[in-house]
Amino acid sequence: MNVTVVELGPRDGLQNEPTPVSVADRLAFARALGRAGLTRIEAGAFVHPSRVPQMASSDEVCAALVAEPDLVARHVRFSALVPNLRGLERAIAAGLREVAVFPAASETFSHRNLNQSVDEALASARAVCVSAQGSGVRVRGYVSTAFGCPYEGQVPVTAVLRVCEALLAMGVFEIAISDTIGVAHPGQVRALIRELRAALPVTVLAMHFHDTRGTALANVLAALDAGIATFDACAGGLGGCPFAPGATGNLATEDLLYMLHGLGLAREIDLAAVVAASARLEPAIGHPLPSRYYRASQVR
Ligand code: MG
Repeated sequence: MNVTVVELGPRDGLQNEPTPVSVADRLAFARALGRAGLTRIEAGAFVHPSRVPQMASSDEVCAALVAEPDLVARHVRFSALVPNLRGLERAIAAGLREVAVFPAASETFSHRNLNQSVDEALASARAVCVSAQGSGVRVRGYVSTAFGCPYEGQVPVTAVLRVCEALLAMGVFEIAISDTIGVAHPGQVRALIRELRAALPVTVLAMHFHDTRGTALANVLAALDAGIATFDACAGGLGGCPFAPGATGNLATEDLLYMLHGLGLAREIDLAAVVAASARLEPAIGHPLPSRYYRASQVR
């Protein structure tokens, strides 16, 4: 089984940090992750800087990364979030060949995160997909709040499926089923994947877990057993969502790799090099990184 790790540290990891990280430090972090063997890296977000100031200068960050000769030679694919056509234009101008749209499965979160209803967000995503495909740019789709909403609580499977089917019809190459607030547990993961697999090809599905309640790795294991082969993670275990209060802690890339390597998976990614990338970033963010593996590795 080939497992793909999609590294989101430079975007999902840093977007929720109170201390702004310089362009130079963001670039060094993303470069180091690419050199560690991660081949898919989300490096920015083309959202309005007044909404997410941490992602300002994503143009500069992405343009520098796609021009980095050794990362080009390694076939590292860089991507960024784009909420609308303006974001897509900026992403293309920065040289990206891959972007991501991010509708939610719950109405209240959609309004808070995107200032749009779910249907309006899907219409925006569709416009991005049509234009991106016309420019030869591939599009990933996230489904936020797929396992629970910070405002509405439980999210019905039918709501998740509806967004997935809409994304697939738009031509996204992958759908990241996202536990925005870190409430998912393995029983729910198994049940949701079973429902999704009945309606969608399992190969388009990726899982995006947060470790807020300590269940992220257990969820990955349950998803692996259910046939999922693509997982999102953030080096250092940073991140959350500015519009999902309390949703700290994406699944740490280090923690994920430690488990995957033990299972004989994703061995091409250098765990020690990911730790080194996180260690170089840590002073710039001004607080200890939450990754368990990372913390253990720093004990001497
Ligand atoms: Mg996240």
